[in-house]
Amino acid sequence: MFDKLHEECGVFGIFGHPEASKMAYLGLYALQHRGQESAGIAASDGERLITYRAMGQVADVFSEAELTRLQGSLAVGHVRYSTAGASKLINAQPILIDCQHGQIALCHNGNLVNAAELREELGRGGAIFQTSSDSEVILHLYARSTAARVEDAIVESLAQIRGAFSLVLATADRLIAVRDPHGFRPLAVGRLGEATVVASETCAMDLIGATWVRDVEPGEILIISASGMRSLKPFPPATRTQCVFEHVYFARPDSYVFGESVNTVRTEFGRILARESPVLGDVVVPVPDSGVCAATGFSEESGIPLRMGLIRNHYVGRTFIEPQQSIRHFGVKVKLNPVRSILDGQRVILVDDSIVRGTTSRKIVRMIKAAGAREVHVRISCPPTISPCFYGVDTPRRSELIAATHTLEEIRKYLEADSLKYLSLTGLLAGVNSHRSDYCTSCYTGVYPVPFPRDQAAQLTLPLKLVPSEETS
Ligand code: SF4
Repeated sequence: MFDKLHEECGVFGIFGHPEASKMAYLGLYALQHRGQESAGIAASDGERLITYRAMGQVADVFSEAELTRLQGSLAVGHVRYSTAGASKLINAQPILIDCQHGQIALCHNGNLVNAAELREELGRGGAIFQTSSDSEVILHLYARSTAARVEDAIVESLAQIRGAFSLVLATADRLIAVRDPHGFRPLAVGRLGEATVVASETCAMDLIGATWVRDVEPGEILIISASGMRSLKPFPPATRTQCVFEHVYFARPDSYVFGESVNTVRTEFGRILARESPVLGDVVVPVPDSGVCAATGFSEESGIPLRMGLIRNHYVGRTFIEPQQSIRHFGVKVKLNPVRSILDGQRVILVDDSIVRGTTSRKIVRMIKAAGAREVHVRISCPPTISPCFYGVDTPRRSELIAATHTLEEIRKYLEADSLKYLSLTGLLAGVNSHRSDYCTSCYTGVYPVPFPRDQAAQLTLPLKLVPSEETS
């Protein structure tokens, strides 16, 4: 319902716990924000992997009986939002196969940029695909490897794929965690007593009482078995391009991602935004929940009080029945309601993390003005989103991104805001406290560190109206 980029997927794995599938269930529960279309767990008792997957959210997908059936001390799990491949059960993960190397279950977060070519090539060689997801390509490459050892077959197959992949794999007796050489998507390692845990975000570890130890490094393969944890680094080093949008919006603020607290980084974006684009106002109001951390930073830096001028209804389902008679701002009102006592007569600084198409932001500005606000100044805690993502994030085509097709002044007019400013790219990278080259910023620059899929080139031919250097002017 909100006009946001969609999260990709969440992955989780645990080795050495007597209730591994229940821990995976809880881990996935904490990662639910990363994907709501399907969920699945594969578990092994040391000899045989079994899996259960279904469409829907974690709490609805698994019953006590199902989790009891998923016996063993090793489990991997996945929550999915379809970044590649249609939204249907066949594409849900873990994908479990049995091949010459034995059983293997795969959970993938990210998107491969050469999946189409590999699929064509494998198809010509007689491969039959069960799914339309890019992740299955990895398993075909693995199954065809002539390497004698499982880990060599994994290395051989991964050497052929390009793009974004944080993988959690299970064989009957091993948990394997992999991060692509660029480190696009996060993957953390933790401990829970004697057990080893891997998860997309540390919030999954918090829920089960595990302690974060470190991140899986870009290009690293971790093999966790009864004989301990081994690290392989078989790929040539590559430029680090971690997804900065994890810090802007995707990851939960209570997580540590790429070694940094999401809350701290997101709040810092707000502080920098307040320094870059100050404005006279009476109240700072976040768009809940995505704008809360940045609005806190904006308020702290500017000295203007933070007020929850919009209240979010957390219990909205995916669909609702609309009345025949039109109600103003109905769509957004189902989820957000303005607090008139905070907004009436005030100069409101409205802080949100991003604008994609602009449709929701416009409704929110109108709603705040209808609640009596004198002025609404919109402040966005990332640069304008001008280009699609090919690395595992569901973005609309460039023609649908408002910042790709409108100037800053045109966007302001469309939103009916009194002023509009975005965080600069320099400010964004200062907020992650890291050198620019450590992060991917392609959706803000249109410059891609890893060549995008050849069939997607057409959608980048649209000329930009708001060039990146004009972002805060
Ligand atoms: S293009 Fe944007 S969303 Fe995609 S990986 Fe890069 S920073 Fe993240």
